[in-house]
Amino acid sequence: MSRPSPTREPVQSAALFERGQVVTPGGVNSPVRAFNAVGGTPRFIRSAQGAWLTDVDGNEYVDLICSWGPMLLGHAHPEVQAAVQAAVARGTSYGTPTEPEIELAEEIVARTPVDQVRFVSSGTEATMSAIRLARGATGRDLVVKFAGCYHGHVDALLASAGSGLATFAVPGTPGVPESSTALTIVLPYHDRAAVEAAFAEHGDRIACLITEAAPGNMGVVPPEPGFNAFLAETCARHGALFVSDEVMTGFRVTRQGQWGLDGAVEGWRPDLMTFGKVMGGGLPAAAFGGRADLMAQLSPVGPVYQAGTLSGNPVATTAGLTTLRLATDDVYAHLDATAETVKTAAGKALDAAGVPHVVQSTGTMFSVFFTGTPVRDFADASSQDTAAYAAFFHAMLDRGVYLPPSAYEAWFVSAAHDDRAVETILDALPDAARAAAAAGGAA
Ligand SMILES: *Cc1c(COP(=O)(O)O)cnc(C)c1O
Repeated sequence: MSRPSPTREPVQSAALFERGQVVTPGGVNSPVRAFNAVGGTPRFIRSAQGAWLTDVDGNEYVDLICSWGPMLLGHAHPEVQAAVQAAVARGTSYGTPTEPEIELAEEIVARTPVDQVRFVSSGTEATMSAIRLARGATGRDLVVKFAGCYHGHVDALLASAGSGLATFAVPGTPGVPESSTALTIVLPYHDRAAVEAAFAEHGDRIACLITEAAPGNMGVVPPEPGFNAFLAETCARHGALFVSDEVMTGFRVTRQGQWGLDGAVEGWRPDLMTFGKVMGGGLPAAAFGGRADLMAQLSPVGPVYQAGTLSGNPVATTAGLTTLRLATDDVYAHLDATAETVKTAAGKALDAAGVPHVVQSTGTMFSVFFTGTPVRDFADASSQDTAAYAAFFHAMLDRGVYLPPSAYEAWFVSAAHDDRAVETILDALPDAARAAAAAGGAA
């Protein structure tokens, strides 16, 4: 097909952005949406269908963010939409237990190694609650995390973070008391010696180690073979809990998430896990879960308090349940093939333009780092040429492809990314790679 013409000037988006900044800090409700890392006008999206976003100026873009992961089936999937509409017609919230919650919990328990789950409304709530449960169950207070792993904006975990924070190059954030982060140990990812040393020194005080099952919030850094098993084993040896955060990777990387690539094969399981994004099907739903004896510590069965007015909301759990039921092996095979095509083409285009880059992936999740050497940790990710990425991003946007507006993010495809969507991406890549080279990214 012919190359789509460059998009129209974002006049309406600019007007909304200005209006938004009057009533909302930065005009956005989550910082990365403001385009601070790449400059320019954030696009206000009016509607979405399948693999495509339509902005308020009428421009269409192939979506490579998929709402930062959730839209595994693509936007406005007819069956998800019908299920959600039927759920809305039955009333949107009752504050009582409902059947869809049980069905979604059963689906998650069937796909993952958790015995039980408790629903919450965001990934942040899930990790916050998992840490409370870990502390309550162990009677210990320290938490270990890795630099560049993002677990939502939980006080104790904003000791050093990727994603938005990494982009703004802020170490932690004002507003988090020292007393919160004083109980957090932050280590470089993949650094086994640092993990050993932390546990050797503080092992009897560590409640849990939390890690992204495969980091995706500094770009995609697949765990080296055996690394997650090592973490699980180290925690077990010291009586600490291993908390695997699969908010991004869960039901995305494979049908069993990242655990399907390591724990399921190697024969171990995390003590606690967190989920979000895909399991909400585009509505606010998240969960934490794990071993039955640990989950039994939660209120109302056990003493550890946790609650939520909209937790397990019938509309959100219906969206999640319908999404997961439709996410068959065929869907994951399609996602795999599409991811392979896009990442191979991106690599080729950047090679041809002489732009240093590394493509990394785990399962169907991938990203492109604008740096010349493999990325194993946050320090490596931080060596990226962000100016080259900004030029690349805008050239893609002008050609109708919507990439994450930051070099530190995963790219996401959906089951709705068909030939036309993929062709649009492949057509845009060579020009964008040349724009990155011109911005200083050439070797
Ligand atoms: C997105 C994300 C979170 C936070 O989820 P929210 O719903 O944005 O609060 C936590 N952990 C990981 C790994 C994530 O990718």
